[in-house]
This record gives sequence, C-alpha cells and structure tokens, in this order.
Amino acid sequence: MRVVLLGPPGSGKGTHGKGLSAELGVPLISTGDILRQAIAEGTRLGLAAQADVKAGRLVADETVLGLIETRLGLPDAKEGFLLDGFPRTVAQADGLGTLLQSGSCHNLDHVVNLVVPVEVVVNRLRERWLCGSCGTIYNLSSKPPKVAGICDVCGSTLKQRADDEPATVRARLEVYQRR
Ligand code: AMP
Repeated sequence: MRVVLLGPPGSGKGTHGKGLSAELGVPLISTGDILRQAIAEGTRLGLAAQADVKAGRLVADETVLGLIETRLGLPDAKEGFLLDGFPRTVAQADGLGTLLQSGSCHNLDHVVNLVVPVEVVVNRLRERWLCGSCGTIYNLSSKPPKVAGICDVCGSTLKQRADDEPATVRARLEVYQRR
C-alpha cells in the first residue's frame, strides 16, 4: 500500500501515520524526521537544512527529493510506504510521480488530506511533547505522560520541538497554505 498523508503541521500526520504504519505493515517516512535526525547528527544534509528547518521555511526541493529517492530505494519500502510531510510543493509532487514511474510504474493507492483549523493546530503544537528516544508523541491536555517530562513507553526524557514555538508555527502554517 502506497499512501501520502497531507495536512498542516500538527494535523496528526505523525500520530495517525504511526498507527497506520503498524496496521498496514509499511514504513512511515517523514521528511521532517529525516531532516531532524540529519541535523542532530551534523551530516552535510543536516547542515544544509538546519537554518530552514529552524525558521519553519521549506528546505530546497532538490534536497528533499534526493533524500526521498534514497529512502524509497531501501528494501522496507519496496511493497509500500506512508509518506508524512512529503510532497509539500508541486515540484516535489512531480518528482514523486517520476520516481514512482521509474520504479516500474507504481501508483499511489491513497492520498489522505487532514483538515484542522489554524487555532487548534497552534494550541496543539504548543502542548506537544515528544520522546527523544522512541518518538512517542504526547499532548499535555489530551494525552499527558503519567509522569511529567518522562516517556510512558521507554522512560526517556520528553522534549519540545524548537519549531513548535507559536511564532514559528504560524510561519510554518503560512508556508503550508501558500504552497
Ligand atoms: P514536519 O516535521 O513535517 O513539520 O517538518 C519540519 C520542517 O522540516 C519543516 O518546517 C521544513 O522546514 C522541513 N521539511 C519537512 N518536510 C519538508 C518537505 N517535504 N519539503 C521541504 N521542507 C520540509
């Protein structure tokens, strides 16, 4: 099954994507997660993307297309995938089409568009905390951890994403709506 999850930041792509990925047995591929990992590891990709991610701007299409091409080429994506946060521009959508055709013409099975009002998203992201180790997502109002600041699943420390700060969230939403 090949699925694209669309929707603004904070619309639930990551949360629903995790559940769907387990249910469908295909990997959840998040360009945001790949970029954040590259930044944390200080790779060339990470260094190139760092300023844009921090400011909530889109990373260059060629950069993102390159990383998606590499990721979709790995064996676990052969039978399907869930894409979270990609494509975000027409050029990326065209690039995905070309990639799928070059891999013996696989079509997408579903494109799911999550629609959530802006104020809900801003509030949700303000209250979002993530586990730095296993990636479990919490919300202080709707899904708080049992012990403040600690992941229920693996016991690691929870953190907030630097780009979830309200001013940056608004910039990310503007970018999302413009494309
Ligand atoms: P996300 O985790 O999907 O909210 O993405 C976090 C940040 O990573 C975005 O604000 C962008 O800076 C960058 N990013 C993620 N996916 C893309 C993409 N498909 N194209 C360009 N930039 C992206």
